Amino acid sequence: MQSTSTKPVLRVALPLPLRQLFDYLPADNAMSPQAGQRVVVPFGHRKLVGVIVEISGHSDLPLDKLAVVIDYPDDETKVLTNELLGLLEWSWRYYKHAPGEVVFNALPPKLRKIGGVIPAKPLQYRLTPAGEARLLEPVGRFKAQFAMLDRMRDGAVTGSQLRALSSSWRKTLARLLEQQWVHFEVRQPAGLNPGPGPALMEEQRLAVEAINLSRGRFQCHLLDGITGSGKTEVYLQVLEDVLRQGGQALLLVPEIGLTPQLVNRFSERLGFEPVVTHSGLSEGQRLRAWDMARRGLTRLVIGTRSALFLPMAELQVIILDEEHDASFKQQDGFRYSSRDVAVKRAAGLGMPVVLGTATPSLETFSNAVDRRYAWHRLRQRATGAAQPRWRVLDLIQQTMTGGISSIAMKAIADTLEKGEQALIFLNRRGYAPVILCHECGWHGACQHCDANLTWHKASHRLLCHHCDNVSQVPVMCPACGADALQGAGEGTEQLEQVLAKTFPETPLLRFDRDSVRKKGEFERLAAQVKDGEPSLLVGTQMLAKGHHFPRVTLVVIVNLDQALYSADFRALERMGQLMVQVAGRAGRDQLPGEVILQTHYPRHESLLTLLTAGYETFAGDICTDRRAACLPPFSYQALLRSDAPQKTDVRRFLDQAKQTFPPGVAMIYGPYPAMMERRSGRTRWYLLVQAKTRSSLHRQLDQWMFKLPKLSTARKVRWSVDVDPQDY
Ligand code: ADP
Ligand code: ZN
Ligand code: ZN
Repeated sequence: MQSTSTKPVLRVALPLPLRQLFDYLPADNAMSPQAGQRVVVPFGHRKLVGVIVEISGHSDLPLDKLAVVIDYPDDETKVLTNELLGLLEWSWRYYKHAPGEVVFNALPPKLRKIGGVIPAKPLQYRLTPAGEARLLEPVGRFKAQFAMLDRMRDGAVTGSQLRALSSSWRKTLARLLEQQWVHFEVRQPAGLNPGPGPALMEEQRLAVEAINLSRGRFQCHLLDGITGSGKTEVYLQVLEDVLRQGGQALLLVPEIGLTPQLVNRFSERLGFEPVVTHSGLSEGQRLRAWDMARRGLTRLVIGTRSALFLPMAELQVIILDEEHDASFKQQDGFRYSSRDVAVKRAAGLGMPVVLGTATPSLETFSNAVDRRYAWHRLRQRATGAAQPRWRVLDLIQQTMTGGISSIAMKAIADTLEKGEQALIFLNRRGYAPVILCHECGWHGACQHCDANLTWHKASHRLLCHHCDNVSQVPVMCPACGADALQGAGEGTEQLEQVLAKTFPETPLLRFDRDSVRKKGEFERLAAQVKDGEPSLLVGTQMLAKGHHFPRVTLVVIVNLDQALYSADFRALERMGQLMVQVAGRAGRDQLPGEVILQTHYPRHESLLTLLTAGYETFAGDICTDRRAACLPPFSYQALLRSDAPQKTDVRRFLDQAKQTFPPGVAMIYGPYPAMMERRSGRTRWYLLVQAKTRSSLHRQLDQWMFKLPKLSTARKVRWSVDVDPQDY
């Protein structure tokens, strides 16, 4: 049944995990509601914030059943532009996700709740002539006031700049306004005042020219440049050009790539402070960032994944740094790839998108091979430094101390002797990945997951890295009572101990999630490394990215063997990316670098290809294998994931779901247990859908999505769809 209404029907997205929109009638007032506006609506006994995504002439429900909007919290202001509404609708259809969750993911957290409001136009503060006169007098008793006046000496400043002066800045400012030494005005966009950059090298120049030439139309650019080849410099020149012409730009970076160091480089070169946004900021800060972008008060936003959905009316280019990075894919809830949605957004807006990396993902790589993307190779280091030399160390019959072979230990000693720094890489934190009893073979396993407990010796704890399970380290073996508990294997905590014992005089810095917890801690450590004293750096992939440590000349990769024979078809690709990224830390300045790879498989074919022929050939070989095996990017996949406390419930649901899968060319496989079958007390399985073309995959998925919620077995499990899955 359909009811046609004289009043418009508002189709509203609500923050609920339901794959539908909700119909409401407008409130009886003069305002005519529009798509993109927020509303407050009744929902059962609750009130919820919603966003109007469409205005329709009819509803599938009888009109007298429709509830009426309670409030328009932002009056006529829209929180989503038509452009973003279009992008979000595409996203929920493509990822088969609940529209409300997709829409609300794009809003700053404050605006998702009742009571959150769009900030008033931001202000800036400027000296009056009286204030200028005051600055000529001696400082006097009120030092904070004088300091604040002094901060405005060169022109207007913003509240957030004043906040940096002292925590009681509001009080001080109020005094200055009262004295009429300062007045306020509506904030203006920061002026562009770029500093000089280096003359570009030929490869860089060609890339910048090609990107600039594609302005105003959709074009994907792969900026495929080795570490230190000047990719960031290319971004800067492209940005400068866009900003000069009054455009806005968006730079997306991986979660752990967003450092003050990076932001400083951009603000120093461009002559203004870009707006930075990521999920670690307070809700107030995120709201301000969103507002600055929306009002065009900032021309450059640097942010992680979710910054992709900022409203920017003058957006002219999107740049994604480290495009291969896994953190661009959201792994829970709305599982989207911000890289793929960025490409979609650029296509919709008719603008270039730049994907920069030293190690392209195979998806991007094959797009470049097929010439869908323009491919710009930067193969020379801009600083003139040589590429690091690889040395593969066969671990068979080596003497090992805490995971480090005697040969590697000798190389570390030599490096320190020369007054240089060494980086020891191991992607595993804690003291040991498992604790076991040498008498009876008992080992510490998580009760809730298929995983061993990691021994964190310093904090006397056994920790599951997959759920929140924490326990004390037992003194005796819990099974046989013997005093024979030992760690097996190594983590960064153990490396740190072993190295500290071997090199007691040398400062040692550990970078992992246990040692770098506090805000600013990473920067403190990094600054210490940059001082250049001979020192040892031990760390996880936190060390692999974006950091320029000029005096690191030796990198030791302790162990990556697991990836060589993993069941995950992407493991090899990821291992290659990680190896190249880590190796890129060596010898970035004038000093030549060396990378030692410890392995039990020195003759592994892909490993040899990577080391002798380089990443491009390595990636090409993997492509050949994937094509032959019909794996992505040469086929398209989606998973139906399901989990529940009881395995039987999961299996029943997936069996039933499989039977309802519509016929067509897309095939369905499984159910299979997830790589980690049990996690946080739930058993996890999945069905795999795979097709040669995207369109056939989606056609069948869409039909299937209608049926799944109605299955009798669906109620006992959690289930979700993951389109273009990255893990299994
Ligand atoms: P990437 O982002 O590819 O790792 P960067 O842009 O950080 O490379 O460049 C590495 C170093 O080389 C930086 O210190 C940068 O200032 C410098 N650099 C980049 N391009 C040039 C150039 N054309 N001439 C001289 N130095 C450059
Ligand atoms: Zn025992
Ligand atoms: Zn666990």
